Amino acid sequence: MFKWLLVLAVVVLGYVWWRHQRQAEAAERAARPRPPAPPSAPAPAPMLRCRHCGVHLPAADAVRGALGPYCSHEHRRLAEG
Ligand SMILES: [Zn+2]
Repeated sequence: MFKWLLVLAVVVLGYVWWRHQRQAEAAERAARPRPPAPPSAPAPAPMLRCRHCGVHLPAADAVRGALGPYCSHEHRRLAEG
């Protein structure tokens, strides 16, 4: 009879120890700071379409004409004179 009580006590103590370990791991995981989010990619540059040849180019590289954007001074001259 005493042997079974000893086995039961060991099982109960093992279960209590296991629960304690799980709770400690959960608390440690919750306290750990999350890794920072990766930096977001820069926004894509707006693209414009040349009014003469139709090629698309970044707005920063476009040549502004009276009628719209162009890919080069040559195309602005050809389109607007
Ligand atoms: Zn062009």
